[in-house]
Amino acid sequence: MLDKVLIANRGEIALRILRACKELGIKTVAVHSTADRNLKHVLLADESICIGGNSATDSYLNIPRIIAAAEVTNSIAIHPGYGFLAENADFAEAVEKSGFIFIGPKADTINLMGDKVSAINSMKKAGVPCVPGSDGPLNDDEDRNKSIAKRIGYPIIVKAAGGGGGRGMRVVRSEKELVRAIETTKAEAAAAFGNATVYMEKFLENPRHVEIQVLADGQGNAIHLGERDCSMQRRHQKVVEEAPAPGVSEQMRAKIGERCRRACIEIGYRGAGTFEFLYENGEFYFIEMNTRIQVEHPVTEMITGVDLIKEQLRIAAGQPLSIDQSQIQIRGHAVECRINAEDPDNFVPSPGKINMFHSPGGLGVRWDSHIYAGYSVPPFYDSMIGKLITYGESRDEAIARMRHALDELVIDGIKTNIPLQRRIMADENFFAGGTNIHYLEKKLGIAK
Ligand code: ADP
Repeated sequence: MLDKVLIANRGEIALRILRACKELGIKTVAVHSTADRNLKHVLLADESICIGGNSATDSYLNIPRIIAAAEVTNSIAIHPGYGFLAENADFAEAVEKSGFIFIGPKADTINLMGDKVSAINSMKKAGVPCVPGSDGPLNDDEDRNKSIAKRIGYPIIVKAAGGGGGRGMRVVRSEKELVRAIETTKAEAAAAFGNATVYMEKFLENPRHVEIQVLADGQGNAIHLGERDCSMQRRHQKVVEEAPAPGVSEQMRAKIGERCRRACIEIGYRGAGTFEFLYENGEFYFIEMNTRIQVEHPVTEMITGVDLIKEQLRIAAGQPLSIDQSQIQIRGHAVECRINAEDPDNFVPSPGKINMFHSPGGLGVRWDSHIYAGYSVPPFYDSMIGKLITYGESRDEAIARMRHALDELVIDGIKTNIPLQRRIMADENFFAGGTNIHYLEKKLGIAK
């Protein structure tokens, strides 16, 4: 096993990684900004180092300082968590070049998946179903672009190859808007991502977001752990996730999961990863692959019993996968509500000191969070302060548990989105299952 792991992240995921390390007898190093001295995992880690000021660029995004911290602490490996440097190929490369293990895929794989055009091409080659599209970048030939759009059929969406975070895309409903839309998206992409490459895809009107979790050891073994439904979104940010996805049959899961599993083997994937799909009329359409652990990984853990972070650590230690596909059994249902420090009505972040705090509990209730009474939520980072996850033998039971767990959860002193989550859990269409990616914004009256 790894002797010592440096955790290059903060908040709940840093604590989650620390817990997994402790269970495996791995020593831990926490690196943190000045604002984060009192983070729970910093206090619990074997060693901790302040690597910079409050801004993420000075600390959690500062590659030389993170590597220096690994050097002075004699760490063996670095876990990037999610966000920050987790999908930064330069970081993965710098970590390995400095003689440490990067807990994730190879830098080349991150690069391949970071460019959406190359990601889609390699997925198509591996037999993963993709959205009908331009099969490559668009050039300046207007007639060519028009004929591609005609072949796909309007509406189409123009997307930046280097895009991320729901930015760099534009829906086009008729030919007369096409040329201008391509020009604008190119200019925006160049400014925002330093890469003007754009491509075209069929625009799906009312899809759901369904994603497949995979694990691969980079030694020729890969498994899939079923799907998650993350359709409850606001501004492309997931708000509620669940597993399995309502209406996805065992046969459909096996089919799409097998495609993803094979794709992992084909591209030499190593570590945990997620294939994101749009799902419409019973069909899956690949949109991108995330080469890291995801926020919503706990719902998969609850229904499979597999500890995904421990598996990441084992894979990084060079061990072959300890489980094969036949051992993955899906049982019951899990729901996750993201708890954010924000105004539930206008979504403005609400940092500040937490006075009183009560965490929920009971059978099937899991609370992944770094907060405690007296903790101050800093204004410098993402507003997510915890994840409430419930498990039940059935979906109805998981939701019933979520409703009472949300009632029990008390975070006093700052505003949180708990009232919004209670509204969602009481929503009859959510309860029925299978709402699409526009549902929440429509419910909130903010849909376009
Ligand atoms: P990002 O990397 O910025 O998250 P994605 O390719 O994952 O970009 O797309 C983000 C979101 O944009 C999707 O979850 C979906 O809501 C919307 N979207 C992207 N492609 C399409 C498409 N072809 N049809 C409909 N919606 C799309």
